Amino acid sequence: MGSLGSGCGNSRHFKPLDPEEFRAQAHQMVDFIADYYKQVETYPVLSQVQPGYLRACLPESAPYRPEPLDSILMDVRSCIMPGMTHWLSPSFFAFFPATVSTAAFLGEMLCTCFNSVGFTWLASPAATELEMVVMDWLARMLKLPKSFMFAGTGGGVIQNTTSESILVTLVAARDRAFDAIGIESLRKLVVYGSDQTHSTFTKTCKLAGIHPCNIRSIPTSFHTHFALSHVLLRKVVEADVAAGLVPLYVCATAGTTSTAAVDPIEQIADVANEYGMWLHVDAAYGGSACICPEFRHYLNGIERADSLSLSPHKWLLSYLDCCCLWVKEPGSLVRALSTDPEYLRNGPSRSGSVVDYKDWQVGTGRRFKSLRLWLVLRSYGVANLQGHIRSDVRMAGLFEGFVKSDRRFEVVAPRLFALVCFRVVPRRRRVGPGEADAMNRKLLEWVNSTGRVYMTHTVVGGVYVLRFAVGATLTEERHVVAAWNLIREGADSLLKNAHSLCT
Ligand SMILES: *Cc1c(COP(=O)(O)O)cnc(C)c1O
Repeated sequence: MGSLGSGCGNSRHFKPLDPEEFRAQAHQMVDFIADYYKQVETYPVLSQVQPGYLRACLPESAPYRPEPLDSILMDVRSCIMPGMTHWLSPSFFAFFPATVSTAAFLGEMLCTCFNSVGFTWLASPAATELEMVVMDWLARMLKLPKSFMFAGTGGGVIQNTTSESILVTLVAARDRAFDAIGIESLRKLVVYGSDQTHSTFTKTCKLAGIHPCNIRSIPTSFHTHFALSHVLLRKVVEADVAAGLVPLYVCATAGTTSTAAVDPIEQIADVANEYGMWLHVDAAYGGSACICPEFRHYLNGIERADSLSLSPHKWLLSYLDCCCLWVKEPGSLVRALSTDPEYLRNGPSRSGSVVDYKDWQVGTGRRFKSLRLWLVLRSYGVANLQGHIRSDVRMAGLFEGFVKSDRRFEVVAPRLFALVCFRVVPRRRRVGPGEADAMNRKLLEWVNSTGRVYMTHTVVGGVYVLRFAVGATLTEERHVVAAWNLIREGADSLLKNAHSLCT
């Protein structure tokens, strides 16, 4: 196989995109990737390297002369692989898995192939229009009201991550407030979430200039299954209004990151609507399940929200990154974010008859990412996507059953989707809460150190909890069973020898 660049500084011979060289090397890479997918199960799920390991493996400077692909791939095997935590491993149960699929990969190839930078409609009409079509398709799958669709009065856009979806809607809400009560009111604007709202909410509030003292994190508890209480929300809002502050934005979550709790959108909308707040629903994880009729009720009340975001890279078989954002009033986004530099001016934009997605997002440049979703939706159909969600939920149910059948464990929060929150509860001896937390921490460390399974933890209601999130694309029932057996094995030695787990 030839080298990636065949010249040696001689520009006449250097062809960075020679179609035949591309064909040969891309085929080689596809083989490499297919082999990886076939073998991913054999790698330790959680990388066991120490910080800084890679620097020692690689030269200090970039090579002056070209190197062949073969030797680069050799280094991928020997240097990169050991430092990978394998998110695609079927035994990856940490965080929320990042789902993948052949269709999305092919869509990604096309997206990369064109490398179109569709900031305005004219910069690549197909890129803008396919995104509009796909966002409406997905909206229909979710039974969103027309008010969120281009077919109605709203519209959708593909952001990179939830952070950007929250940021752009927050800035739209902020500027809407400025129009009403003046830019001097910035110091008075208050935003609301719960203590389970994703941490990125606080980050985006800071970016949007919200005063740190005006970011409310309303406490949740075991009692409400960690959902945001609309009663508490109302109390906090009333107190803020009484203090002369201005409620601006509330972020509700459908499927929180710690326990996949669902905030009651309908009741939160009552408060939001009454006080003129922008209501955003962060459904990064749980939203995907709502393409199945039996889960759709978690979005009840969505017609009264201002925006909704959902990340298909979490559960709808799309690669990172892909966060779908629907807004009821695209004009408010555009008013807040539009730019009009001379070098981007063109007829269609001036006519106002097209969507220029640069005005719906933070950046200017944007990739043709709708291709990925389009390939996924067409290649699998709604039926298979629903089946995929249901199969993950069923496997999580199986795991939950294992936990419930073992007296040494308990399920800590209701399982709504494919995430099981559980813990060891030492029963035989009298142990304090601190000690119980330490036992669970030890169990998790031991399980992850085996490299056979990767899980993560959270703390809710002051309690250390283990999270088992089913959803990696390659996971089958046997992996769930093997994971449970490993956890049980860990618990056996932990409870036998309460001081230390042998590894
Ligand atoms: C994972 C997660 C996020 C972050 O999502 P990205 O789209 O991956 O940036 C935000 N909110 C919730 C509820 C999440 O679970």
